[in-house]
Amino acid sequence: MSGHVLIAGGGIIGLSCAFEAARRGSRVTVVEPNRFGGQASGAAAGMLAPYSENTEQPDVFFDLCRYSLDRYEQWVADVEYASGDQVEWMRTGSLNIAFHEADVLPMQTRLIWQNARGARAELVEGAALRSLEPRLTERAAAGLYCPAESHVFAPKLVAALYEACLRLGVQLIEHAGAIVAADSGTSSSLSGSGGVSITTASGARYEADRLVLCAGAWSGAYEQMLGFAPEVHPIRGQICSFEAPVTDVRHMVFTSQAYWVGKQNGAIVCGASEDVSGFDTTVTERGIDRLIRATDRTFPFLAGKPTIKRWAGLRPATRDGRPLIGVPDGAPNVIVAAGHYRNGILLSPGTAHIVGDLLDRKAPAVPLGEFRPDRFSRVAAGGF
Ligand SMILES: Cc1cc2nc3c(=O)[nH]c(=O)nc-3n(C[C@H](O)[C@H](O)[C@H](O)COP(=O)(O)OP(=O)(O)OC[C@H]3O[C@@H](n4cnc5c(N)ncnc54)[C@H](O)[C@@H]3O)c2cc1C
Repeated sequence: MSGHVLIAGGGIIGLSCAFEAARRGSRVTVVEPNRFGGQASGAAAGMLAPYSENTEQPDVFFDLCRYSLDRYEQWVADVEYASGDQVEWMRTGSLNIAFHEADVLPMQTRLIWQNARGARAELVEGAALRSLEPRLTERAAAGLYCPAESHVFAPKLVAALYEACLRLGVQLIEHAGAIVAADSGTSSSLSGSGGVSITTASGARYEADRLVLCAGAWSGAYEQMLGFAPEVHPIRGQICSFEAPVTDVRHMVFTSQAYWVGKQNGAIVCGASEDVSGFDTTVTERGIDRLIRATDRTFPFLAGKPTIKRWAGLRPATRDGRPLIGVPDGAPNVIVAAGHYRNGILLSPGTAHIVGDLLDRKAPAVPLGEFRPDRFSRVAAGGF
């Protein structure tokens, strides 16, 4: 790979793509309007949970999640080595809890297809469940234990990627201010100059050979440049934490109401709401109260304990829940990598590798047909 790559957006996806492009030999500039990792990526619980996230059946999205999970071990080793930082990857496994016998049957169906795809999961009940998660409510009827799932400390992974990029010579432009214009370098775009560029409100202009669009929930701002609406919309996730020793919640625990993840810093993170609030990241009593009630029911030892932190982030959602990854028709110098919704931390190494291959003009290992960035406008125009 060679040439100059411009990356718009400094969340986990932008920084991961920057790290991958730089180590493959490109000159890289990342432009972030605000703070690196200051949006969804800094808010995330950091779960790497493709089996818990895909409960119905295997499909292309599940395959993408697995592709990325399979790369995590090497990715974390490489990022930690390049940065000198630790990302607190905790291979705890997960427990999906059923409170009623009727909920156990779907778990058995799920167990069959997921075990055929590497989950190594088992259904645990009674004493076996209690010994895995001793502080879980006695009302839990059964749990689907999946040792293949794990979690990282998302803000630390972002910080390590930032440091790794810095050490590789990536130009990291923070607090660049609003991006007011973008040029894909094609004849239909603003200047038709052949090179890509973005311009900020202060008049700074950044130019390169290729542009990777990683603007998360803000990707819609690039509609004019792309010639179609990328259709990514924000879904607010409100989340909170309680103080307790990491041994008190040993696994990532999921119920139909919430999840809990014990972090090394003594915080048990409990998430997350899914609400439509535009670009508002305000935390509401209503959003957090629902998590507190679920906590009281699932981990009685936390009942009545105050939350130590409350925060919110905007998941970049798409209509079909799948990310937009690929080179759009009509903008051959642009790669879109956005819309990772609930799984951007999990999908970051896989996305970076695919983007690296696209920058190298190689066919990625994952077929991208179902992730085409312009797929919604094609449907609207009767394109299929
Ligand atoms: C509460 C919560 C919990 C989550 N938990 C998990 C989890 O456990 N596991 C998991 O895998 N995922 C999780 N996610 C999802 C994950 O956080 C996202 O999928 C991921 O962070 C998306 O990364 P991103 O880089 O695309 O977006 P972001 O991190 O939002 O980054 C986009 C960046 O683009 C910048 N930007 C804004 N406007 C522009 C512009 N015009 N041009 C360029 N850049 C712009 C923004 O400032 C921002 O920094 C969670 C999300 C939330 C909110």
